[in-house]
Amino acid sequence: MTSREPAAMAPPSFRFGRRDPAPGGWFGEFGGRFVPETLIAPLEELEARYFELRSDPAFLSEFDRLLGSFVGRPTPLWEATRFAEACGGARVFLKREDLAHTGAHKINNALGQALLARRMGKRRIVAETGAGQHGVATATVCALLGLECRVYMGALDMERQALNVFRMRLLGAEVVGVEGGGRTLKDAINEAMRDWVGRIDDTAYLLGSALGPHPYPLMVREFQSVIGHEARAQIHTAIGRDPDAVVACVGGGSNAIGLFDPFIENPKVQLIGVEAGGTAIEPGRHAARFAGGTPGVLQGTRTLLLQDEHGNILSTDSVSAGLDYAAVGPEHAMLAASGRTTYAHASDAEALAAFQDLSRLEGLVPALETAHGIAHARVVARRLGPDGVVLVNLSGRGDKDVQSVASRFPELGTRDEGDAP
Ligand SMILES: *Cc1c(COP(=O)(O)O)cnc(C)c1O
Repeated sequence: MTSREPAAMAPPSFRFGRRDPAPGGWFGEFGGRFVPETLIAPLEELEARYFELRSDPAFLSEFDRLLGSFVGRPTPLWEATRFAEACGGARVFLKREDLAHTGAHKINNALGQALLARRMGKRRIVAETGAGQHGVATATVCALLGLECRVYMGALDMERQALNVFRMRLLGAEVVGVEGGGRTLKDAINEAMRDWVGRIDDTAYLLGSALGPHPYPLMVREFQSVIGHEARAQIHTAIGRDPDAVVACVGGGSNAIGLFDPFIENPKVQLIGVEAGGTAIEPGRHAARFAGGTPGVLQGTRTLLLQDEHGNILSTDSVSAGLDYAAVGPEHAMLAASGRTTYAHASDAEALAAFQDLSRLEGLVPALETAHGIAHARVVARRLGPDGVVLVNLSGRGDKDVQSVASRFPELGTRDEGDAP
């Protein structure tokens, strides 16, 4: 036996089949399935197979086994005492998704969807990627399972995340740059969808966040809920109760909804998502959908969007490619509308400060996405005071970002750089 936590040893089915959306994929007035006619049947088939397999013991035990021996779960829970002390408030626990294989939470979902695709007899996977993390996770599980893999990526994101492009190609994936639109995630999703429509028979679309048409937001939440169920068992071992607040950064919302999942039923636990505040909360300068977004339909789902009064999607801006998106997962929109969750934002500057602080105080270099959550966790910890406990998702590690932000920390450069020895 390994030293796996009790929660991970329990039958894996406990994560599935809770809080299903209404028929058609409705989370209140959000969600649904807004796609061209050609995609209705494939999405219905996907939904039917998913509902079948999520209660199939063989499928669940295969998923569970690979989460353990391939992904490296359960990931640990770390009490960040030096960081908490610097915040001057509550105790802070970090869920270490940075230690999951490939360096972020995205592999949990990629593995679940790839296993599902294989069971459906698909031999080819298409995916989109923003920061490159979902592309790397997808390329990794395709290599693991022997599936062909093509990843669409905005050309601007390819520049920002060149190392991840190399990693995907090393893993055997084909990476296709998308030049249209803002050259970021939104444009890559359009291309991936187009590819899928053309090759429904042998191809599955592996979506990277809790977004898109039903059943994706539900599937992604359920595959990612392993984060929350592990963390809840671990924090109960540590302090004997639920935390007072749970904080996670929100791009499409998958790491946040996965962590929130088991805490949603306990109204005493504050659930706080943190979006990218960019350079200012003004049109085009941020990606904080809850600070200026309005309901609308984008890429298959009805949710909160950053759009102008004519319904044109606004450009977004963030230091972090993984949070730089105009829409948020529909379940987040519903939870916010009901008052169960709240959303804050951290600016580029606040995220960069947190990026350096967590590195220095804990020896943990967070992803830039994650650094937004860390920045706001500081505010929450201070507000709760010394008796409080905050659980924060350390959704990924920052190795991929070091190069792109080095110029923002000129004081850390070597003075003799460029001098030949
Ligand atoms: C992709 C990514 C995010 C944002 O995506 P969500 O679906 O909102 O979780 C956050 N953190 C890391 C490390 C990521 O790679």
